Amino acid sequence: MIIPYDNCCDGRNAGSYGNTRNCLACGDVDGKFDILFNRVRAIQKKSGNFDLLLCVGNFFGSTPDAEWEEYKTGIKKAPIQTYVLGANNQETVKYFQDADGCELAENITYLGRKGIFTGSSGLQIVYLSGTESLNEPVPGYNFSPKDVSSLRTMLCTTSQFKGVDILLTSPWPKYVGNFGNSSGEVDTKKCGSALVSSLAMGLKPRYHFAALEKTYYERLPYRNHVVLQENAQHATRFIALANVGNPEKKKYLYAFSIVPMKLMDAAELVKQPPDVTENPYRKSGQEASIGKQIPAPVEESACQFFFDLNEKQGRKRSSTGRDSKSPHPKQPRKPPQPPGPCWFCLASPEVEKHLVVNIGTHCYLALAKGGLSDDHVLILPIGHYQSVVELSAEVVEEVEKYKATLRRFFKSRGKRCVVFERNYKSHHLQLQVIPVPVSCCATDDIKDAFITQAQEQQIELLEIPEHSDIKQIAQPGAAYFYVELDTGEKLFHRIKKNFPLQFGREVLASEAILNIPGKSDWRQCQISKEDEETLARRFQKDFEPYDFTLDD
Ligand SMILES: [Zn+2]
Repeated sequence: MIIPYDNCCDGRNAGSYGNTRNCLACGDVDGKFDILFNRVRAIQKKSGNFDLLLCVGNFFGSTPDAEWEEYKTGIKKAPIQTYVLGANNQETVKYFQDADGCELAENITYLGRKGIFTGSSGLQIVYLSGTESLNEPVPGYNFSPKDVSSLRTMLCTTSQFKGVDILLTSPWPKYVGNFGNSSGEVDTKKCGSALVSSLAMGLKPRYHFAALEKTYYERLPYRNHVVLQENAQHATRFIALANVGNPEKKKYLYAFSIVPMKLMDAAELVKQPPDVTENPYRKSGQEASIGKQIPAPVEESACQFFFDLNEKQGRKRSSTGRDSKSPHPKQPRKPPQPPGPCWFCLASPEVEKHLVVNIGTHCYLALAKGGLSDDHVLILPIGHYQSVVELSAEVVEEVEKYKATLRRFFKSRGKRCVVFERNYKSHHLQLQVIPVPVSCCATDDIKDAFITQAQEQQIELLEIPEHSDIKQIAQPGAAYFYVELDTGEKLFHRIKKNFPLQFGREVLASEAILNIPGKSDWRQCQISKEDEETLARRFQKDFEPYDFTLDD
């Protein structure tokens, strides 16, 4: 049953105290209506009235039941407005005649096969009845990939879509235990529905309830955004409930209070609980490495939904190596677009075009604004990538080509170059290339300066093997700093919390290397736009003999 989206009361005008809904969620009732409703009565007597009861899993038992007749005929009555999901098996399909939902008894409503129910308070509840089946057409107690994608299309495709308050499914979502607290005897890599996972991933419910496994599991809340890459969003709480009246007394009824998200202050909504974890379903931009940890989501039949989601949202993670599977492999890949204004995306209006000195296929070179020297340059990807960890093989190849070319270029001018990247509080990858005159110091002096000054600031700088790939060392999404010397030697630091933003510059500007301590902050090195233009033109001209983009 679908109650129109905007057909909600003017809860907005009510005092904030009036916005809270007190709800109960229940696992498989299995036809034990008296036990459930007596329990609800006892709770309400003790704690006051609740607004509604949501039942997931099997509402009816498999055996014929005289108890139900009493509710159906009105001899007994549910003490609370109760909403239930449909059948999960052939035996109970008969109770749910109308696929669009209907009243089963006074105060007991079948929501329907799938849809969104908006309560009078504005509380949005998305429901999906039945269990997963991948073979169309599906019987009345199953849902199909089509059902899930139509729900997602209906809800998630508008740009204003932020999430929903509650998601009700009978099966657990597959992989829900990933990155979470133990799900006990239930192995979430094997059991549960991958379609439900993809639905939860897309809908971003604040609460997700499921049942059928005859056990209680409250997962630690998980986040719906990628740290350091996306704005904070609300977290999701997944709660699986046991069956009513189970002898082990596992929890089957869950009480919670919720203010509909549409009535909430944005800052309040996105507050992160202290124990929040990574999203268990996320296929991150660093697919290759995540893939090793959780191979299943990308390999199984429901994987196309993960891809759909990425494309729809235009996230940068859709453009790593995996795109080679696209139907037009020969077309050049469009570089990723930034989520907002970006100073370094070549296509964005914010970029300072006059500083650009060379443009390749995937990367470009620009003079650093307020550089340490007149020939301090940046290697930047044309599209919006946050760190080298995210780059596809062809972009990495061009980055390396630029590095090698710049090394030769600077060598010809009596300089060795130092390259560093800080993937921390930065949105767009910037590889800083700073030439140091050979007469200043030896490579070992530069290395020592970095190590010593790091130690002074309690920064653990580790020497990593020369040919090692940062991708293999940095955890996906993790912040880091690394410096590469002209010999190819690399020093790496995994940033845990605070990291001095100017560290790389400070070391290079210090007496041990360039000896220009006053220039360690780029803001103190700013020059006029005319001067920047002059320097850029000069660099461009000097670099021309080395310009590989002019080849062939
Ligand atoms: Zn960018």
